[in-house]
Amino acid sequence: MTITDPTATTSGAPTFDSLDPRTGAVVASHPVHGAADVAAAVARAREAAAWWSALSYKERAEQLGAWKSLMTRRLDELADVMSAETGKPRGDAMLEAALAIDHLAWASGHARKVLKRHKVPSGLVMANQKATVEFRPLGVVGVIGPWNYPVFTPMGSIAYALAAGNAVVFKPSEYTPGIGLWLAKTFVEAVGKPVLQVVTGLGETGAALCRSGVDKLAFTGSTATGKKVMAACAESLTPVIIEAGGKDALIVDEDADLEAAADGAVWGACGNAGQTCAGVERVYVHERVYDEFLDKIVAKARELHAGDGDAKIGPITMPSQVDVIRRHIDDALAKGGRAVVGGADAVGERFVQPTILVDVPADSSAWTEETFGPTMTVAKVKNMDEAVALTNGSRYALGSAVFSKSRGMQIAERLRVGMTSINGVITFAGVPSLPFGGIGDSGFGRIHGPEGLKEFTYAHAITKQRMKPLLALTTFERTEKAEQQLGKLMTMLHGRGGKH
Ligand code: NDP
Repeated sequence: MTITDPTATTSGAPTFDSLDPRTGAVVASHPVHGAADVAAAVARAREAAAWWSALSYKERAEQLGAWKSLMTRRLDELADVMSAETGKPRGDAMLEAALAIDHLAWASGHARKVLKRHKVPSGLVMANQKATVEFRPLGVVGVIGPWNYPVFTPMGSIAYALAAGNAVVFKPSEYTPGIGLWLAKTFVEAVGKPVLQVVTGLGETGAALCRSGVDKLAFTGSTATGKKVMAACAESLTPVIIEAGGKDALIVDEDADLEAAADGAVWGACGNAGQTCAGVERVYVHERVYDEFLDKIVAKARELHAGDGDAKIGPITMPSQVDVIRRHIDDALAKGGRAVVGGADAVGERFVQPTILVDVPADSSAWTEETFGPTMTVAKVKNMDEAVALTNGSRYALGSAVFSKSRGMQIAERLRVGMTSINGVITFAGVPSLPFGGIGDSGFGRIHGPEGLKEFTYAHAITKQRMKPLLALTTFERTEKAEQQLGKLMTMLHGRGGKH
């Protein structure tokens, strides 16, 4: 097997360091790939794509299966790199990687069923046609990923794009380049060809990928960068998927299992130190159970501690995020809010302690902007109508959660969001057959599920005449009789109903 080094770069490139956010120690140095390096990676990927797309679905599934097995066998090694670059507790790293592997298995196992050529009804007017559609790979897909879930999030694009028959060039976050390289190295070790390439660097490298002529760009990151990515891709009409930020709400109904709701709220808000796009940031609680629920989350949050070693909450991976979290807490308190757990002192240099804010005015950034820290803002609501209206009032619309014994589905169906978990938090992300993505400032397009496979394809429609048409319409030989018969057929098919 030929092992092609997916990290190959032009010599003499500048480098940057990835740091351990728990200590600030250098984990490794990586090249800052420029536009020429990115172009070379895309060219290599395009060559590999020709081979990859010509494989049958079964053959591709076998190759992806080999990669999946290798990753699973080396899960410990991957978790080490993840913990070193993000600071996240090892158990969290294992869970994230395990979910990503499960998605890879689903994507490769379902690609044929979802994408292969299949028959579609041709309709009465075109009854003589046999119509079929196939979803074909686009070619080379560029993937730009964030640092918060540096395996699960980009793999939502990478695994589905590969399973659909594309090659991928991946630009990981500058905070987690080693993880991206680990993915590409294991891929090449398992498959033997550089179908998955990695380029490392800062924002400029990502911008170069947008302008590199890839056939689609899948971006996951902040809304602000998403807009830049879209603008850069617009120059060459490169289609984009934008998976951006969130300000997800959790709703607690009066009949909810409060113990489960409190557990979900605290984990959803503080897990991964709150650095979760679909993490819980806003909580709306029915007034009849508000006090009891608040007591429960306060007790649970007080048991948690952010720190090194055995702590269940790790550091804030991106240093500048600490200032955003501090600003949101300070703004809430300055406007009359109260911290019932944590508060201004909760924000340290690298770690932020759990913080629960109440009585916060609606115009505070703690309600309106993505905080991305182990904090949640909680409000009492009169009824579920108010909870739904407040949830839907955000410019973000990614995920959501509803805790209710009797009305979970009713409430969920009224939410203007991409995903909802009932009586759980973020569970939608672990179900591979469910599409994942948002609307509004949370972006557009879908990863995961059949929709996630189709995102990385184009539809090729074919219709074949299987017998002479009853009505010959698409010809200059069309007769008056055929036109009259078409009129009658239209009346029969579409002319009935309505008020007049
Ligand atoms: P950023 O927007 O800062 O960065 C995302 C990626 O874009 C990084 O790889 C970054 O590179 C790159 N980038 C930066 N500037 C440019 C540019 N001009 N052109 C192209 N690429 C560029 O996001 P974060 O890494 O801080 O990630 C956190 C954000 O991601 C949060 O808002 C979170 O909600 C969101 N997110 C959304 C998810 C979803 O599925 N909806 C899932 C996970 C996270 P570099 O790091 O080198 O600057």
